[in-house]
Amino acid sequence: MRILIVEDNVALADELTVDLKRAGYAVDWLADGRDALIQGAVEPYDLILLDLGLPGKSGLEILREWRATQMLRPVLILTARDHWAERIEGLKAGADDYLTKPFHPEELQLRIQALLRRAHGQVNQPQLHAAGVQLDEGRQCAVKNDEIIELTAAEFSLLRYLMLHEGQIISKSKLHDHLYDGETERDSNVIEVHVNHLRRKLGKDIIETKRGQGYRLQKNSE
Ligand code: CA
Repeated sequence: MRILIVEDNVALADELTVDLKRAGYAVDWLADGRDALIQGAVEPYDLILLDLGLPGKSGLEILREWRATQMLRPVLILTARDHWAERIEGLKAGADDYLTKPFHPEELQLRIQALLRRAHGQVNQPQLHAAGVQLDEGRQCAVKNDEIIELTAAEFSLLRYLMLHEGQIISKSKLHDHLYDGETERDSNVIEVHVNHLRRKLGKDIIETKRGQGYRLQKNSE
């Protein structure tokens, strides 16, 4: 999953980038509101973290413009603790959730996970569950038939994306768009390699190859 951080506090943005990358997300960062307005609408982000006080254009203005043009991706706003009016305005403008600064990194992770599950129709589950596999996003491992299966960072990110899109055919280029940030060079073999590793670990039928179309996580594989 690919996340855009829009935050002009460089120290906080650095910290967020490190935390989110460690949690297996592809991360892009912008500090200017005008850049964020455009890039947030054009690039296929799965979620956007949006500060409200930004140079160029305020977070609220950006959010209103996105929503007015049907840009409906999940947006989590970051606000100052005592700015309750801002939080209300943010929610009215179409934010999906908010966090007040300073926040605990784990709370951010859990809110992001919940927002992504909700955005993909997995509403009432505390953990991702698909194709007979449970994903422990905290430990970055899979659980199948009560057995813990260790995953590399790349395998974890790929499996999470496929689990959030269970039953859908996902092209390699879409996987590239969502698993890597804007600066990573494309290598079409790399995804194939990780898919094969996941099959070895979780069973060869878990990911189906649809020739010329992409990959699909089986709905009910054993
Ligand atoms: Ca700010």
